[in-house]
Amino acid sequence: MKPKIAFFDFASCEGCQLQVVNLEMEIPTLLELVDIVAFREAMTEASDDYAIAFVEGSITRESDIPRLKKIRERATVLVALGACASSGGLNALKNRMGMDTVKNIVYGDKAGRFETFPARPIHAVVPVDVHIPGCPIHKDEFLRVVQALLLGKKPEIPDYPVCVECKLKDNLCVYELGQKCLGPISRAGCGAWCPSNVDACAGCRGFISEPNKNAQTDIMKKYGLTPDMIMKEYRLFNAYTEDSNE
Ligand code: SF4
Ligand code: SF4
Ligand code: SF4
Repeated sequence: MKPKIAFFDFASCEGCQLQVVNLEMEIPTLLELVDIVAFREAMTEASDDYAIAFVEGSITRESDIPRLKKIRERATVLVALGACASSGGLNALKNRMGMDTVKNIVYGDKAGRFETFPARPIHAVVPVDVHIPGCPIHKDEFLRVVQALLLGKKPEIPDYPVCVECKLKDNLCVYELGQKCLGPISRAGCGAWCPSNVDACAGCRGFISEPNKNAQTDIMKKYGLTPDMIMKEYRLFNAYTEDSNE
């Protein structure tokens, strides 16, 4: 019998699920290996009987918690899909603002109808077995994770900097073009996606273990960034991690 997998979403743009839908060439093979039993972005049918749950999105309201716990109870393996789920992502940028202020900005005079609380990654609520970082996830990494899980192995997510992949690709460093790049401290695995397209890495895959922030800060100061600007760079995709000192 094929393993049953399911996809769920919380506060997100659903871009990570879209990356899975975009695996047009690989989906036929994937469907030979697994049964997808729930995937709101791609199918109407839904079942609560699954072994592997891929969860996209941050937890941003009280009512998310029981729903996530139910998913955790049912799944043998829980995978955080993308930055929102694995680190809080962009959603955590609101956390330093008052929640009433946030609601008023978004919903205006209808703010009273909606609930919200500071955004958090799913591991802040339930145990998570695998984190697939990135905003969005990288399609190849998703396939590598599925392959490892089907083989009963722990998926390996790189813990070295984007600069390694960037140098292997012989890219021109974007600092030479006047950009400010977080590649030296950001987690690789995207194939240096942004610098390979002449854009700076903004750290969407989170930071490596023990990032040398002092050296990174010194580089950015040397290239003209003020401490305030540097803090904004660090917090863009990693506000929850930066604020909680995880
Ligand atoms: S990680 Fe990025 S692409 Fe994925 S759901 Fe969140 S905002 Fe969208
Ligand atoms: S462009 Fe960014 S990732 Fe590439 S070498 Fe320079 S600092 Fe590192
Ligand atoms: S280069 Fe940096 S910002 Fe771009 S996809 Fe990779 S980790 Fe994310």
